[in-house]
Amino acid sequence: MSDLHRQSVTQLAAGLRARRFSSVELVGACLARIEASQAALNAFVTVTGEPALAAAAQADRLLAAGDGGPLTGVPIAHKDLFCTQGVRTSCGSRMLDNFVSPYDATVVAKLKAAGAISLGKTNMDEFAMGSSNETSFYGPVRNPWNPALVPGGSSGGSAAAVAARLVPGATGTDTGGSIRQPAALCGITGMKATYGRVSRHGMVAFASSLDQAGALAPSAADCALLLREMAGFDERDSTSVDTPVPDYVAALEQPLAGLKIGLLREFFDKGLDPAYERCVREALKVYEGLGAKLTEVSLPSLPLSVPVYYVVAPAECSSNLARFDGVRFGHRCENPRDLNDLYRRSRGEGFGAEVKRRVMTGTYVLSAGYYDAYYLKAQRVRALINADFIRAFKEVDVLMGPTTPTPAFALGAKTADPITMYLNDIYTIGANLAGLPAASVPCGFVQDLPVGLQIVGPHFAEARVLTAAHALQRATDWHTRVPRAYA
Ligand code: GLN
Repeated sequence: MSDLHRQSVTQLAAGLRARRFSSVELVGACLARIEASQAALNAFVTVTGEPALAAAAQADRLLAAGDGGPLTGVPIAHKDLFCTQGVRTSCGSRMLDNFVSPYDATVVAKLKAAGAISLGKTNMDEFAMGSSNETSFYGPVRNPWNPALVPGGSSGGSAAAVAARLVPGATGTDTGGSIRQPAALCGITGMKATYGRVSRHGMVAFASSLDQAGALAPSAADCALLLREMAGFDERDSTSVDTPVPDYVAALEQPLAGLKIGLLREFFDKGLDPAYERCVREALKVYEGLGAKLTEVSLPSLPLSVPVYYVVAPAECSSNLARFDGVRFGHRCENPRDLNDLYRRSRGEGFGAEVKRRVMTGTYVLSAGYYDAYYLKAQRVRALINADFIRAFKEVDVLMGPTTPTPAFALGAKTADPITMYLNDIYTIGANLAGLPAASVPCGFVQDLPVGLQIVGPHFAEARVLTAAHALQRATDWHTRVPRAYA
């Protein structure tokens, strides 16, 4: 079948169970598309073709026997910061270019147990620091809608791979927007879970109080399926929360009538591209047509999200990345003179410029004398942002607004000015600071480039966010659009 790549995760899982095509056929078709697009998109760091085909043959045997899990035989890809046993996990960094993990991350193990087959590891910003996928040691990823543009970051490889339909679904992580922002820029659906919902065990840490995993796929229904299989308590992650995972798929068809949607006033600001805003407002009208009630809400502390994030995230990163010292694993410099030389040169050679900038900022804000002035103050403002969200969710069921201020931008356009780059995440970072579940769904195009609508829910209300996203996707077909070169 030549149209397999046009099918969603949900359709493929059903097609495999009905034996309309085999997993070997499907995995082979995806691998061919990955190979054919690699030079143009650079979406993958590592492709695991042979083991994937062997797993597909095994999946076909299970399916033939009427066995298997909810994702048996479905190909996916993992962002290259999820540890994969026996397969390199680079985190987009020279530092981990030679690192092969001895174990699988919980997310990887859970998706494997559900039957999904990993085709490889996707490119990403180095240590997930970036909004354009230009900080990767393996070179930038390109946007399938226009190769002169960035795909967003840091899960840019996962987003580009799904947008070009190389794989029907992929994992990602979102510390300040790294699932939602690339999903918006690539015209696909992306969902990050509530902090604590998905285990961080085996996810290379960037900023531990903000990092959370999630799914990227064409549709909200696909994200519901992937997230249901990824989520759940894990005793190996001390911040993982021990509450049952609802069946997000079963909840999708719940009626929307009466849903109270809060429009985030602070997100419709002067930084928002007017044509982008028109698409978002059109989507909001669709919700009104479906019986939802729209009201404007204000979160006065939200505009402080970016400065708060750029204190908290670098602080945690400087501490997390201290383990890459050239001693136990990762890059080690040649012929160190002494221990200090080993540390200095291994880290100096292993890390790229953006990572170094974050480590230095983080070390500074944590140092004696500055801790109270920066880090403690940032944590206090973070509590205010969290309180704003909690107050808003007493009045509305979900919050909506744009995912990003503009559609995809040109490669190189923002690399010289970190602040401009950081402002890309102005609408996404709030949900991370408050630990909330949030999605981006395609809602239109500006000059042939996709636009994302952001949906944020209260803690552990993933089902509500996904159901709202699914309702829009039943009423519109933005999420089914595929870039011409990959149709
Ligand atoms: N773009 C943000 C940053 O550079 C967020 C990254 C992320 O979510 N991993 O830190």
